[in-house]
Amino acid sequence: MARKVFVLGEIRDQFLRNVSFEALAAGKIISEGGEVVAGLIGENVRTLANDMIYYGADRVVIVEDEKLKYYSPDGYSQAVMAIIDSEKPDAIIFGHTALGKDLSPKIAAKLNAGLISDATAVEIVGGNVVFTRPIYSGKAFEKKIITDGIIFATVRPNNIPPLEKNESRSGEVASISVEIKDLRTIVREVVQNAAEGVDLSEAKVIVAGGRGVKSAEGFEPLKELASVLGGAVGASRGACDANYCDYSLQIGQTGKVVTPDLYIACGISGAIQHLAGMSNSKVIVAINKDPEANIFNVADYGIVGDLFEVVPMLTEEFKKL
Ligand code: FAD
Repeated sequence: MARKVFVLGEIRDQFLRNVSFEALAAGKIISEGGEVVAGLIGENVRTLANDMIYYGADRVVIVEDEKLKYYSPDGYSQAVMAIIDSEKPDAIIFGHTALGKDLSPKIAAKLNAGLISDATAVEIVGGNVVFTRPIYSGKAFEKKIITDGIIFATVRPNNIPPLEKNESRSGEVASISVEIKDLRTIVREVVQNAAEGVDLSEAKVIVAGGRGVKSAEGFEPLKELASVLGGAVGASRGACDANYCDYSLQIGQTGKVVTPDLYIACGISGAIQHLAGMSNSKVIVAINKDPEANIFNVADYGIVGDLFEVVPMLTEEFKKL
């Protein structure tokens, strides 16, 4: 059954986040040959429309307003609802990001629609759109369908492969004007952490440190390895609680959920709450002094040893590649 699917593109620092392209790929599957309409919301976002088309959108609808320069729940809700009212899609896909997690329940409530959040896969089975999502902190997966009304889901970053970029694709780009009003919160400025490098939730490689790193300085070799691999640095809550690093790096049940291609856990014991945030990584490498550490139970490759010897050796070897 052909469907019209609305996919929200997510912009950060004037660039589209990768999850936008992954959401388009999900939209393409759900559309079953119907139409994929991308939405872009912000201040000056028209220049990004072509990328949405190259990655699978058939059309792009833009809502631009200086009040939409930064995300605000009220402003974005008004813009998204205006697109939905004019497009009347059969299905809606957002990224399962901080923005998507905040905005999707509001939109679902306005539409009186069901919402499947944090989907890691989507397929068509017997004419139904079936989403897979992790439950019990990633220990099991459930398959869900929405049986009534609009199909609405958020997709976890780094799980649904984007379509190949095709610069020969073309599509209509249209603006709709929306009066953005009654904002209860206004973001004046975003102050970024100077140390912030590759976005943790979208990183293909993560080098994470735990209490075994022993100090803030102990993270230096991990940062070097991450930089050689073009990856991001993450941490266990143990490391954050010990003040070795910022809580924004925390991975796990009460931190970020990540699914990189490669996760290198250094001096992390593998508590269940940590595994909840990283056990779905494609390849897990664990470095730990204790051969009995639980992290080895989920690792594809284990190195029993002192991280302060092993990590610099890995960095040197990767530098040669
Ligand atoms: P430890 O358990 O102390 O492990 C340190 C490891 O380093 C050990 O295995 C040791 O063998 C190894 N080591 C020491 N020195 C070296 C060396 N030189 N070289 C190599 N290895 C070395 N934790 C999270 O991570 N994320 C969460 O989101 C999270 N949420 C939680 C929510 C709740 C409600 C609760 C109760 C707990 C939560 N925790 C979370 C905490 C979790 O239970 C663990 O306490 C925490 O993950 C332990 O961190 P760690 O592995 O760094 O430290």
